[in-house]
Amino acid sequence: MSSTLASNTIHSEMIGNAAWQDRKDAAIARGEGNLAPIFIDRAEGSQMWDVEGNRYLDFGTGIAVVNTGHLHPKVKAAVAGQLDRLSHSCVMITPYANAVELAEKLNTLAPGDTPKKTMFVTTGAEAVENAIKIARSHTRRRGVIAFDGGYHGRTMMTLGLTGKVAPYKTRFGPFPGEIYRAPYPIPGHGITEEMALKALDTLFRTDLDPADCAAMILEPVQGEGGFYPAPTAWFRRLREICDEHGIVLIADEVQTGFGRTGKMFACEHAGIEPDLMTMAKGMAGGFPMAGVVGKAAIMDAVDPGGLGGTYAGSPIGCAAALAVLEVIEEEGLVDRSQAIGARFQTALSDLQARYPDVVGDVRCERGAMIALELVEEGSMSRPNPALLKDVMAQCHNRGLIILACGMYGNVIRFLPALTISDAEIDEGLRLFSEALEDAVDGQT
Ligand code: PMP
Repeated sequence: MSSTLASNTIHSEMIGNAAWQDRKDAAIARGEGNLAPIFIDRAEGSQMWDVEGNRYLDFGTGIAVVNTGHLHPKVKAAVAGQLDRLSHSCVMITPYANAVELAEKLNTLAPGDTPKKTMFVTTGAEAVENAIKIARSHTRRRGVIAFDGGYHGRTMMTLGLTGKVAPYKTRFGPFPGEIYRAPYPIPGHGITEEMALKALDTLFRTDLDPADCAAMILEPVQGEGGFYPAPTAWFRRLREICDEHGIVLIADEVQTGFGRTGKMFACEHAGIEPDLMTMAKGMAGGFPMAGVVGKAAIMDAVDPGGLGGTYAGSPIGCAAALAVLEVIEEEGLVDRSQAIGARFQTALSDLQARYPDVVGDVRCERGAMIALELVEEGSMSRPNPALLKDVMAQCHNRGLIILACGMYGNVIRFLPALTISDAEIDEGLRLFSEALEDAVDGQT
């Protein structure tokens, strides 16, 4: 573990990580597992301290949530100010101004010129559920197409859409009907754009009449699936196919939104205006907040009362989200995201050159949504999840939090805060490089 640093606030019970892990294992269902036995006591910016006072650099941001850093002073002040006025009255009963202000902002920020409307919920999965409801209500159709390797959440409908079995779907079926799956092109893994389009065409001929298809949902950069950007030409072709058949195109921007990929929303990389867009995670700096933003005519297909939720668009979440948007703008975090990607690119490419047998690919072309794929014998068709486990443990021991993803559990993902300093990036990359070196030595 890294040495004890600036922490003065050791947890009041004064027990360490191992003891908390034992208590967690006894008290919380094992299905809610944890990646590392590290119990965080407090955090600020890109740093966290555990209950033993160990310091960590955070390259995970709680899975792309605290894009503006932990407890950004502006977000903290906005939430504190809101707590003096109102915590809840229910937006469906007696609404409040900051929900309207936030919706107005999001409607202007969403890609494309078509007039937009917003609806609020609390989690990413709920946003996806509601996007499907809206698409079905608008089209009066049932079929929904999702893609291999896609991740859309843990509720029943979103699990049906999610294209990765273990650990998400195992033993949870049956899932809702009328969900169809098509390949997502990953040329590095042998699935070309042509193959993906051909398979979609086959789906329309064998299983689902496009005239019965309500929606297509995809992540503009696959997240849990392995950080694969949607190839631009393929994504644009999907837009055309949806237009030809009156299918609602839903971009799931839950992980990619709010500057994460070097654009405000990742669809902008392909110049695409989706019909509906789901958002959560980076939206409110760590406060549970999510929504769907979409073309007004589609959003308004649902009658009053058909959408919502008790905590939908809580005043605290709205205050936090408005502050996050201000910070992104004031601090130029969309541009900063691109610069972060470029800084990682240089260091990770060096590592790839040093370890060509195990670093199969480095993906930094989508801002601060960065991946490094670990393989055997330099072959992308030979994933190396064992090495990933070692590297991750080495990183955590050295005081660097990184995450994993990928269909084969062999992709390291880096999701630093967009407010991270160059010095912190360099420190984290040095720790990562040492961790990789030791893990590779340990394997040979
Ligand atoms: N969609 C995508 C693309 C996601 O990455 C996630 C979360 N990882 C979700 C939906 C679900 O969000 P939540 O966990 O907030 O329900």
